[in-house]
Amino acid sequence: MSISKNLNSLKSQLPEHVTLVAVSKTKPVSDLMEAYHAGQRIFGENKIQDMVDKFEAMPKDIAWHMIGHVQRNKVKYMASFVSLIHGVDNLKLLKEINKQAKNHDRIIECLLQIKIASEDSKFGMAPEEASRIIQSKEFSELQHIKVVGLMGMSTFTDDMNQVKEEFMTLKHTFDNLKTIETTNCKLETISMGMSGDYKLAIDCGSNMIRVGSSIFGARS
Ligand SMILES: *Cc1c(COP(=O)(O)O)cnc(C)c1O
Repeated sequence: MSISKNLNSLKSQLPEHVTLVAVSKTKPVSDLMEAYHAGQRIFGENKIQDMVDKFEAMPKDIAWHMIGHVQRNKVKYMASFVSLIHGVDNLKLLKEINKQAKNHDRIIECLLQIKIASEDSKFGMAPEEASRIIQSKEFSELQHIKVVGLMGMSTFTDDMNQVKEEFMTLKHTFDNLKTIETTNCKLETISMGMSGDYKLAIDCGSNMIRVGSSIFGARS
């Protein structure tokens, strides 16, 4: 199947309130352009340098999402154009994003990554930590960022009951934290679900899915 066919069949299955991030990591610009010509305007990359290269090579009406783990010293390379940073998992990183956004006279939208998987390898903060951060004085001073939601990645397993439990944990965390609204925090987005589990994620309340291989094919 072609990229545009994969994309169209995926989109035809999605409820209207669900935003699709096309995860294009490791794929060449020609593949992304095929998705672009089929109407896709939101792309997700997990390496900052790759995202910068693709941003420079591609049309400027694309929204670029950083979905990978972010190193503080690399935030400056994407600060002028990144549309949403999914994997924010500590206050120091929020401060650096704020600083770089200020340099570009922007407000950069972020999602807090919550650790829902049982694997040690997955990043993210505990729900209590997210709650503590968004209510802290230090956070309230960061006027060049806006926390607009939460992101989570489930455990890599075939056990869909476990995956469902993890997604429900993120949904409950979202519902709890949504009640905390400040000048730079208003939770609206739950980013959860990938190629193997996006249907379950949507059933559990996701409104943003990050899908790569089902659109672009397997990565080598
Ligand atoms: C690679 C990746 C995805 C997409 O994975 P697929 O299984 O190819 O759909 C989603 N989210 C994150 C954070 C990723 O790194």
